[in-house]
Amino acid sequence: MIWWQILLIILLIVFGAIVIRLSFNFDINRCLESRRKIKIEQLKNICPHCNIAYVGKNNFSYESFFSSRPGTINWRCSQCDLIVGSKEDVDSLMEPLQKDPTLFLERKKRFVKMARKLKLC
Ligand SMILES: [Zn+2]
Repeated sequence: MIWWQILLIILLIVFGAIVIRLSFNFDINRCLESRRKIKIEQLKNICPHCNIAYVGKNNFSYESFFSSRPGTINWRCSQCDLIVGSKEDVDSLMEPLQKDPTLFLERKKRFVKMARKLKLC
């Protein structure tokens, strides 16, 4: 081989390595971003959509995070951004949690843990 052929082969190898590395980095970033989006969507299923408000010493009630903006019919959870179509949907989401406070506490614990993992709070 002549010296310029060796030089050409070395340049091609270096160029190929740079192209492979750039495409690999790009794919990893896209993959991580899509995984994060999926986890944020899963967070909407875990969110209790309410908090406990203490009334007096031994009583408590649930304080919903859902609110409806003026001019819209949709209800939006201020904690997880879940949007539902009507007040009946809000009530059906809240009903099992209001019947069973341990379910509420368990879901709130899971929500906080996952939100911390995703660095949302
Ligand atoms: Zn929520």
